[in-house]
Amino acid sequence: MQIKNLKMDISAVSAQQYPTDNLAEIALLGRSNVGKSSLINTLVQRKKFARTSSTPGKTQTLNFYQVNEAFYLVDVPGYGYARVSKQQRAQFGQMIEEYLTTRSVLQGVIILVDGRHEPTADDVSMYQFVRYYQLPALIVATKMDKVKKNQWNKTVQTVTNTLNLNSTDQLQLFSALNKSGQSEVWHWISTRINN
Ligand code: GDP
Repeated sequence: MQIKNLKMDISAVSAQQYPTDNLAEIALLGRSNVGKSSLINTLVQRKKFARTSSTPGKTQTLNFYQVNEAFYLVDVPGYGYARVSKQQRAQFGQMIEEYLTTRSVLQGVIILVDGRHEPTADDVSMYQFVRYYQLPALIVATKMDKVKKNQWNKTVQTVTNTLNLNSTDQLQLFSALNKSGQSEVWHWISTRINN
């Protein structure tokens, strides 16, 4: 996709702060450090648009990045922090849940998993949640530059089996380092927002 226009539009912690312009939205979800900011930066072809390596525990917001005045990529803060309190975790869960369950312009969800390892219990819960609410999902297994090509089929099998992927959900192998999978992710986003 050609990026003609990009703006960091809104940081929100609750529904009153979401954008009101009715543009389509695609949410990105994943554990902290999985490579979500790197995926966003790769997609929008900028080095430091979305901040990378966010510190676990600091104020977390939903970030709405407006692309080509046509849609938003919504950066949902990483789940599964070890260092935040139970209370913070609950509040944070509520913020994500409120967004995912009430947002009518949300057209699909990208869930990132680390392609080097088996998806974690947090990844499985997040996928089940997204399935339960019947949100169209693309699973992106990232950091694939760290996985030998002859192991890629194994990654596909492991992610598919551990998440128990539904046949309608797609899995894409990706690397922010060499940009493999970038056009496939854009293709999926385009299909969703032009629905
Ligand atoms: P976030 O917390 O999910 O936003 O994760 P970041 O995008 O900040 O990435 C966390 C760390 O993983 C950083 O050190 C990145 O450089 C690294 N990283 C992210 N994507 C990739 C990738 O595709 N390949 C490799 N080798 N490293 C990556």
